[in-house]
Amino acid sequence: MIPLAAQVGGHPGVQTTEDGSLLLKPAVPLEIEFYQRVVSESGLVHLRPFVPKFFGTLRLEGKVETTEIDEPLVTDEGVLKVTPIDGSLVLENLVHGFTKPSVIDIKLGTIFYEDSATPEKRARMEKAALETTSFETGVRLTGFQVYTNDSPDPILTRKEYGNSIKSSQLSEGIARFFPVSSPSTPSAGLPRHLLLPILRSLREDVAEIRETLEGVDMRMIGGSLLIVYESDWTRAEEAVKLYELENDSEEMEAENDVEITAGEDNDGEDEDIEDEDEEEDLPVPPYTVKLIDFAHTRLMPGHGPDQGVLMGIGTLLKLLDGRIQEVDKMT
Ligand code: ADP
Ligand code: MN
Repeated sequence: MIPLAAQVGGHPGVQTTEDGSLLLKPAVPLEIEFYQRVVSESGLVHLRPFVPKFFGTLRLEGKVETTEIDEPLVTDEGVLKVTPIDGSLVLENLVHGFTKPSVIDIKLGTIFYEDSATPEKRARMEKAALETTSFETGVRLTGFQVYTNDSPDPILTRKEYGNSIKSSQLSEGIARFFPVSSPSTPSAGLPRHLLLPILRSLREDVAEIRETLEGVDMRMIGGSLLIVYESDWTRAEEAVKLYELENDSEEMEAENDVEITAGEDNDGEDEDIEDEDEEEDLPVPPYTVKLIDFAHTRLMPGHGPDQGVLMGIGTLLKLLDGRIQEVDKMT
């Protein structure tokens, strides 16, 4: 077991398997329950693409307790892929396969205590939200790491930065996480022609996450969006091409239209099989964005969506739009 190198926030203790594909996080009952319900309840099917794959929990030494799993925990040779640690949640490691993963943990929401919290805890958490960007905007930059093109190690920005900035400085923070190569700072970040399609496609995914969460009755306390993108120029270039990310959003829509029309001739079944094959063959994408950290998330039918989380995602959409415009204007 190896500590997760790309851990940018939260409590220490997140580990990965030796091959880096799986993540082991100390499990708490609420988080286990959340993942179990997401994989088993049809009403939560829309959330599945936006959370890490769940492989089950590890309980007693040597014994793997799985619920519905995406993939066996044993290799073809019957060897257990992970060393069991008592009481761990086994998840997909979202950073796996990236050469230079730039990673940000963005904490969502405005309320960081549960209904059962003592008045003291409630007051403390309200103060923390008020003193940071959380209360006003529903987001806080918990921590991030960014690779430049000329260094083998990432630059880490710790939570103190996100805790100290004003709401008006969030756009600066986002610009720091998505630096762009320019004539004066050639190795600062990805070149514009790669960063732009990544930002545009990411923005659409975040919009989809918002639409999905509008239909889920939950209270997500202390949860985050984890964004990962490839900062290695060569691999980013390959991945952007393979995933056919277009540089211009209008072009993207036009192409999608053509694809949908062309696809109508096939019957649906073939298409599904094709899609699955594609997914298996395709290497790691140029970026990924998922909701993480459900240690204090409760599904609450009848209570409506989490408004603080929705506000945070709205803030992030505006920040991404702003960054897209800035980068777009550069030549
Ligand atoms: P905590 O309850 O300690 O905040 P999190 O679930 O937020 O735990 O995880 C802490 C950190 O670990 C995150 O900020 C992120 O850097 C990393 N992390 C968590 N889940 C994943 C994942 N599925 N893939 C990659 N990194 C992850
Ligand atoms: Mn966290």
